[in-house]
Amino acid sequence: MTADEADAAGAGGARAGVGDDAPSLVGAYSLDTKLAGALGGRTAQAVERAFGYLTVGELLAHYPRRYALRGELTALASLPLDENVTIVAEVLEVRERTMRSRRGSILEAKISDGTGILTLTFFNQAWRARELKPGARGIFAGKVGDYKGARQLAHPDYELFDETTQLSADDEAAKRWAESPIPIYPATGTLASWQLAKSIALLLDGLGPVDDPVPAAVRESRSLLGQREALEAVHRPANESDWKSARRTLRFTEAFVLQTALLERRAELRAHTTTARHPSPGGALERFDAALPFELTGDQVSVGAEVADDLAHPVPMNRLIQGEVGSGKTVVALRAMLAVADSGGQSALLAPTEVLAGQHLRSIVRMLGPELSAELMPTLLTGQLPMAERKKAMLRAAAGQSRIVVGTHALIGETVSFADLGLVVVDEQHRFGVEQREALRLKGKHPPHVLVLTATPIPRTVAMTVFGDLDVSTIRELPAGRAGIESHVVPLAARPAWRARIWQRLAEELAQGRQGFVVCPAIEPRVAEDDGGESGDETDAATPAASVASVLAELRAHPAFAGSRIAPLHGRMSADEKDATMRGFAAGELDVLVATTVIEVGVDVPNASVMVVVDADRFGVSQLHQLRGRVGRGSVPGLCLLVTSAPAGSVALQRVEAVAATLDGFELARVDLELRQEGDVLGATQSGGRSSLRLLRVARDGDVIADARSLAQELLASDPRLTEHRALAAAVRRRLDAEASGYLSKG
Ligand code: ADP
Ligand code: MG
Repeated sequence: MTADEADAAGAGGARAGVGDDAPSLVGAYSLDTKLAGALGGRTAQAVERAFGYLTVGELLAHYPRRYALRGELTALASLPLDENVTIVAEVLEVRERTMRSRRGSILEAKISDGTGILTLTFFNQAWRARELKPGARGIFAGKVGDYKGARQLAHPDYELFDETTQLSADDEAAKRWAESPIPIYPATGTLASWQLAKSIALLLDGLGPVDDPVPAAVRESRSLLGQREALEAVHRPANESDWKSARRTLRFTEAFVLQTALLERRAELRAHTTTARHPSPGGALERFDAALPFELTGDQVSVGAEVADDLAHPVPMNRLIQGEVGSGKTVVALRAMLAVADSGGQSALLAPTEVLAGQHLRSIVRMLGPELSAELMPTLLTGQLPMAERKKAMLRAAAGQSRIVVGTHALIGETVSFADLGLVVVDEQHRFGVEQREALRLKGKHPPHVLVLTATPIPRTVAMTVFGDLDVSTIRELPAGRAGIESHVVPLAARPAWRARIWQRLAEELAQGRQGFVVCPAIEPRVAEDDGGESGDETDAATPAASVASVLAELRAHPAFAGSRIAPLHGRMSADEKDATMRGFAAGELDVLVATTVIEVGVDVPNASVMVVVDADRFGVSQLHQLRGRVGRGSVPGLCLLVTSAPAGSVALQRVEAVAATLDGFELARVDLELRQEGDVLGATQSGGRSSLRLLRVARDGDVIADARSLAQELLASDPRLTEHRALAAAVRRRLDAEASGYLSKG
C-alpha cells in the first residue's frame, strides 16, 4: 500500500472519504458548482487527482462504463494480472491463519462467480470474517495480483449486497432491488467504482433543476429524456431500459452541443473579412496551367474549383483537402498559391519536418519551371538554415519579394513577418491543431485563407466531429498511369523461415535497378523515433523494437547486398545529413534507405519499388498506409512487405493484415476506427482531453452526429447568438472552457 492509499484507507480499512466530510445539502447545486463545495475538500481532491474534474457537471458526466446485475456473475476465470477490476461474486469460505515468518494473521476469503475462484487476502484484519460470511454476495474491487500461481486481490475494497433486501422472491421491493443494475464506473486504484457511485449519488441528491441544452421540440421529436432525468437514470437506473434511454439522450446531447460549438466557431471565423484573391488573365496560374505536363484529374479540377471559389470571396477560407498519398494535392495547393500570387499576395506552405519542407521547395521550383520560379522566388525558411540565409529569407518574406515561403510548422511561432500573407497551406493536418491555426490567423493584417492538406483519410463522421469548423474536399481519384502496389504480410510468429525471403526479395528488386526502403520503429535498440508521430497501441515495452542501427548492420553484413549502397535516415541526424541522404537517394546514388518514419510523408522517388516495414505492428494503420504510399508512385510497380512478429489472431496482427488487404485509404480509416480502442479515435491533441467525447463514438454514432449537426444548423440559422437558447449557450461555453483549460492530456 502506498502512503496515499493508506491515508485513503484510514483506520480499520474503511475507505475514507466519500461523503464523510461533505457539508450537508444546504442548497441546490448546479452543474457549475465546484466539487469542493459539494463533496468536501478531501473527496473533491481525490476526484480531481484521479480524473481532473473540478465541477459537479464534470463528475456527473463521468458515466458508468457498464452495468452489472446483482445476479450477474462476471468471469473470474480470465482476470488480467495487474489490472484494477470490479467483480460481482459470492463468498465461498473464509479462513484465518497465522503467519510463520512475521507476527500477525492473514484472513483469506475465497470468492466465486461460477467461472472461477479468486482469493482475497487481508493482513491483520481478522474482524472482516464477521462480514465476509460464506454465501454473502457483493461487489469487490482491487488490483489483480498473483500468489504462487493463483490470482488474488490483496486488501480489496468491497461492498456487500444488503441481505435484508433479499426477502421473499415475490416481494416487489426485492424484485426491484434484484433488477436494478449496478453502475460500474471507470475507476482508479485509489477511487473505486462504488465510491464514485456514492459521490455521484450525493451530487444527484443535491442537484437543483438542470436546464436542458436540447430544445423541447427537438427532445420531443427524437423521444429524448430531459437532462435532469437522463442524469438520474444513467447513474441510478431502476432497470435496463432506464440507462439505455438515458444514454441515448446523453449521447445525442453531447453530439448536439459539440456540433453547435463547432458551427459557432465556423461562423466566427467567417465573420472576419479578408482579401478576395483572383487569378489574373495571363498571370502566373494561367501560365502554369498551360505548361503543366499532365492533365489534372477530375477530382483535382473540382476541388481546385472549390478552393478558387473560396479564395474569390472576402471571407477567410478554412478548407481541408483529403486525398490519398500521390493523389495530387500538392498541385492543387500550388495552383491556389498562384492565384494568390496573381492578386499580389504571398503564400506560406508549412510542412511537418525540415526534410519535407526542403523537398516541397525543390518540387515547387521544379513544377514552376525557371521563369515562374524567378518571378515568384519560392524561398525556404526553416530554423536550421544558417543565420545569413535565414536573414535573407526573412527579408524576402517581409518585403513581399518571395511569393511562396516554404517552412516547417515552427514558422508560425516565430518572428517571421510577411508583406501580404494571403494564404497558408498546411501539409499533413494530423500534426497541426486548432491552436496553430488560430496563431496563424493572427499573422496577416487580415486573417489569411487556410488550406489544410492531409493524406490521412478521415471518415466523414470524424471530419464532422473534429474538424466541424472546416470545409472538407476530397480527392479520391489517383492520376492515371500508376503501376500499383502489391502488399504482403510476413507473419514471423507463424512462419519464422520467411525472414530470409524478405531480404532476398529486396535484393531482387535492387538487381533490377530499383531502390527500396526498410522502415524500423526505433533508431537504436533503445531509442524511439520521436519524430514519428503515433505508434501502434499495443507495443510491448519489454521487447525492444527493430532499430535502424541493428537492421543497417544486418543488411551491410548480408552477402546479398555486397555491392549495394545502404544508408540510414532518421530524426537524430542533422538537417544537412538528412537532406544529403534524401538527395542522394532521389538521385539514385543510394540503393536502400534504412529509416524511421521520417520518410512517412511526402517523400517522392518514383524509382523506389520496395517498402519493407519491420515490426509493422508497432505502427498505426494510417501510418503503414502512408509508408506504403512511398512506393509504386511512378511507372514501376511497388511491393510492400509488412513484417511482424505479432501472434496469430491478435488485434496487432489484424491491423497489419487490414493494411495489406486494401489500398483504399478510406476503408482503412474505417477499419482502424473499429479495431482501435474506443476513445482513442481522436487522439489527445485533437479531441481536447478533459472535454473529449464521453458517450459519443465517431466510429459508431455517425448517424447521431449527422442528425445533431443538421438540427444545430437549423437552430443557429434562426438564433445565431443563442440568445433564445441560454442552456445550450451555457453547455457550449462549458465545453469550450474545458477545452481551453490545461487538462489536455487527461480525460
Ligand atoms: P500528394 O501531395 O497528394 O501526395 P502530389 O501532388 O505530390 O500528391 O503528386 C504526386 C505526384 O503525382 C507528383 O509527382 C505530381 O507531379 C504527380 N501528379 C499530380 N497530379 C497528376 C496528374 N493529374 N497526372 C499525373 N501526375 C500527377
Ligand atoms: Mg504531398
